[in-house]
Amino acid sequence: MRVARLYSFNDIRIEDIPVPPVGAGDVLIKTHACGICSGDVMPWYIEEKAPIVLGHEPTGEIVETGKGVTYFQQGDRVFTHHHAPCFTCRYCRRGDYVQCPTWKSSHLVPGGISEYILIPSINLENDTIVLSKNVSYEDGTFIEPTACVVKGLKRARIRNDDTVLIIGLGIMGILNLLIAREHGAGKVICADRVKFRLDKALEYGADYTIDVSERALDEGLKDITGGGMAELVIVGPSSAEAMMEGLKCVRPGGQALFFTPARPGETLAIDPNYLYFNDINIITSYSCGPDDTADAFELIEKGVVSAERLVTHRFPIARTSEAFALTAKAENSLKSLIVFDGSK
Ligand SMILES: [Zn+2]
Ligand SMILES: [Zn+2]
Repeated sequence: MRVARLYSFNDIRIEDIPVPPVGAGDVLIKTHACGICSGDVMPWYIEEKAPIVLGHEPTGEIVETGKGVTYFQQGDRVFTHHHAPCFTCRYCRRGDYVQCPTWKSSHLVPGGISEYILIPSINLENDTIVLSKNVSYEDGTFIEPTACVVKGLKRARIRNDDTVLIIGLGIMGILNLLIAREHGAGKVICADRVKFRLDKALEYGADYTIDVSERALDEGLKDITGGGMAELVIVGPSSAEAMMEGLKCVRPGGQALFFTPARPGETLAIDPNYLYFNDINIITSYSCGPDDTADAFELIEKGVVSAERLVTHRFPIARTSEAFALTAKAENSLKSLIVFDGSK
């Protein structure tokens, strides 16, 4: 079977490796589609894991079940999460699934951009979802990224009528926009420096956009809100600079949600006195757990998130490098998928 393995940021190779053997409790899927994650195009993040078979947003059809598998059957169309928690440790009992040691060590074999994927029993039992008829394989690839957004908004305790500022309008920014709306956000204001992405945000329901290639973010927001700024500021770009810009835009009593990590060792020079007297919180949110994938699946079933609207590019596995480079460029694209036979 063919897989896309990354050795370094500019060196992704298509390799032929044996299909992994199916053990007791595991299943094998024939992959139908897999998303390119915008997190995976941060060179420092992905190169730390290299060599690695790319992709953690796959869907496929079960073609073989191991001994003892009863709930899932051959022919089931599924999404499976790359990591699954144990549900019994202290982290899990508190709902902090992504901190669970089992979650951290579990993974699909060999990874998502592969013609076949082994779903180990822990991933199968604790975070695999059978897709309903109205959810296509392509729709299913949005479960993981949507779940990351669901988790972020839960942690930020978004409230009805909040004025929300979203910085960075790649696919994650757009998903934040769509789902913030579902949570009853008031005004949603979207900022980026790429015209294609600003236009997309308006098309998907943003009330206003700010082109930060033309004007300072905080000035633009001040004008739009009459000086009121935003109760929730979602910072997408993985830089301390963007985080500082975001903090300047938070209304007293509000919060900044850092949706993406900065590079290890990068620091923020914050003024705790300012945060204290303005009751401003900084919230972070890393990845997602099985409660979030379940909520995401519901949003996709309802049609709030759909591949038809959000996928701008589709590539066969042989062109994974191109798909990856396009996502890294962060210009005239939203979601890119690797599609196998019968992705719809
Ligand atoms: Zn992802
Ligand atoms: Zn656990």
